[in-house]
Amino acid sequence: MEVVENTFEVERVKKSKVTETDFGNLQFGRVFSDHMFIAEYADGKWGKAKIQPYQNLSISPASCVFHYGQAIFEGLKAYRSTKGEIVLFRPDQNHLRLNKSALRMCMPEVPKHFFIEGLKQLIDIDRNWIPEGDDLSLYIRPFLIADEAFLGVKPSSRYKFMIITSPTSTYYTGAVKVKVENHYSRACQGGIGAAKAAANYAASIFPATQAQKQGYHQLIWTDANEHKYIEECGTMNIMFVINGNLITPSIERDTILPGITRASILQLAKKWNMNIEERRISVDEVLAAIKNNSLEEAFGVGTAATIAPFSNIGIGENDYELSDFNTWKFSNKAKDYLDQVKRGTQEDEFNWTIKF
Ligand SMILES: *Cc1c(COP(=O)(O)O)cnc(C)c1O
Repeated sequence: MEVVENTFEVERVKKSKVTETDFGNLQFGRVFSDHMFIAEYADGKWGKAKIQPYQNLSISPASCVFHYGQAIFEGLKAYRSTKGEIVLFRPDQNHLRLNKSALRMCMPEVPKHFFIEGLKQLIDIDRNWIPEGDDLSLYIRPFLIADEAFLGVKPSSRYKFMIITSPTSTYYTGAVKVKVENHYSRACQGGIGAAKAAANYAASIFPATQAQKQGYHQLIWTDANEHKYIEECGTMNIMFVINGNLITPSIERDTILPGITRASILQLAKKWNMNIEERRISVDEVLAAIKNNSLEEAFGVGTAATIAPFSNIGIGENDYELSDFNTWKFSNKAKDYLDQVKRGTQEDEFNWTIKF
């Protein structure tokens, strides 16, 4: 067990809202815990950082973020182990990725101390907000925005880094229906698809609502040039098991977000001696595998759902129903393994977690 150092100034709420919260009926991202972490950057350096009651911000309407969109974020979760400890899954990776996103968006790097120690101290203060139960966790949203009041297009000279948290239940219940997008794009080569930038989500909302009108939960994004190769699924990375091989789009291109769940699942597949192919995979290849019955599993991977199995894939005018995901070997085994590491009931052999 690690000790959480009280390194940041803390202003506590007068009265916690935790007892007013209905933990039996949590929706994703609607309820926020008592406190937030906030740090400010101005003129080339980070200034004060503190933990304060969750509250609205006072910010100029001319802030760059509203006009030119310098905004990036992260997403991770705190779990409660069966022994009652708090478990964080690979927060160091989220910190590294935030700073990679910052570089691409011309924003300052966030010091590791703010991200990791700030997060631990915040979660420790709000530890009563971490729900107990198999599908429950505390969703953590670190983010960085530009708040210089200036309408010229240039990198902002002022930023705010914040962490807010929200108790949550599973993102999807059951399998998801996905549709291959063949007109709109989430990301293009040379763009910002590999950064966890708010703007990528802005681009995805309209096409996603179109798919939802047709009864699908999520889109499968394809490459912006030809709409021929599969890239991601909604806000998740994507994997297929075809003829016993685990196939996933490689992240060499800058159109795919390098997911931490993706990387962790690939490590597990390697440990289990599964053949892994990180490469381009075309829609035609998946369609052929559906038709000749060699598509064994197809699923999205990301922090929100860990693994979201697909029940249906829409391709062109057709909808293809996949086999019952309860029978899928690899994805169920990987999900169980990851769930158990997060609950502390599986030995953490890769040193993925921080417990306190
Ligand atoms: C966050 C995100 C993912 C998943 O990343 P994890 O680190 O596994 O949560 C995948 N794709 C996109 C577009 C994302 O924004």
